[in-house]
Amino acid sequence: MASDKLEQLKGYFNELKLNAVAQRLDEVLERADKEKLGRVELLLELVRDEALRRHERAVELRVQAAKFPETKTFDTFDWNFQPELNVPQVKDLAELRFIDEARPVVLLGKPGTGKTHLAISFGVRACQSGYRVRFYKAKDLFRALYATLADDTTERFLAGLTRHPLLIIDELAYFKGRPEHAYLFFDLLQARSEKASTILTSNLRVSEWGDVLGDVKLTAALVDRLMYRAHVVNIKNGRSYRTEGPEGPNAKTVRAPSRTAKR
Ligand code: ADP
Ligand code: MG
Repeated sequence: MASDKLEQLKGYFNELKLNAVAQRLDEVLERADKEKLGRVELLLELVRDEALRRHERAVELRVQAAKFPETKTFDTFDWNFQPELNVPQVKDLAELRFIDEARPVVLLGKPGTGKTHLAISFGVRACQSGYRVRFYKAKDLFRALYATLADDTTERFLAGLTRHPLLIIDELAYFKGRPEHAYLFFDLLQARSEKASTILTSNLRVSEWGDVLGDVKLTAALVDRLMYRAHVVNIKNGRSYRTEGPEGPNAKTVRAPSRTAKR
C-alpha cells in the first residue's frame, strides 16, 4: 500500500478513536503478508484487540459506577463451606436471567454467612454482562431517600435508580426507622416492580422488617408484593465464614502459633 494512503488510513483510525487499531496496523499488515492471512482474518486480527480493550474498559466503568464497597466474585466464593446454601439455586441465579425478568432476589441469613459476598458477585457479573448496577447499604439508601423529601427530588431519585436494571440493597437490619422510610421504600419497590431487579440482603426474618421500616402494616403489604415474584435464598442457620472460615477464630485447621498466642 502506498505510504501516504497508509498514513491517511491511520489518520482515519485515530479520528474514529480506534487508536489501538492505528498503532497495530503496520505490524498486522506485515504479518498478513508473511503468514498469508486472508482478508477476513486480517480485519479480525486488527479489530479484536480494540474490541476487547473497550469491553474491559466498559466493565471497569460500570463496576466503578456501581459503588461496591469492595470487589467480591464467585471465583473467590467457597461453594463447599456453607452446608445450608442451596448451591444449584445460586448457580442458576448467577446466570442472571432474573435481571431480564426484573425479579427480586432476597438473601436471608445470619451475619457472616456470605450474603454480601454473593450480592456483590451477582453485581460484578451483571456489570460484566453489560447491565448498569448500583449498590447501597440499606441504611445509606434510606438516608438518601429521606433526604429527597427536603428538596422534593424523590421522583427524580427513584427514576434514576430505575435506569439501573439491578439495584442491590445490602444489610436490611435494625435501625431507627421512621414511617417515612416505609413509604419511601414502598415507592422505590413500586417503581422497580416488573421493570427492574432488586437484590435485598438481610440478617432478619422477613416478618421483622416492619420494625426496621417503622410501619408494620405497610411493610406487610410491601413484603407480600416483593415476595410474590422473588427468588429467596435462605441460608437459615448457616455457618459464619468470619468465625468458622479459614481465617476465623473457630477455624478447623491448625493455626500459626503467633496468631493463637494473641488470644
Ligand atoms: P454477610 O453479608 O452474610 O454478613 P459476608 O458476605 O460479608 O457475610 O461474609 C463475611 C466474610 O466472609 C467476607 O469477607 C466474605 O468474603 C467471606 N465469605 C463468606 N462466605 C464465604 C464463602 N462461602 N467463601 C469465601 N468467602 C466467604
Ligand atoms: Mg453483609
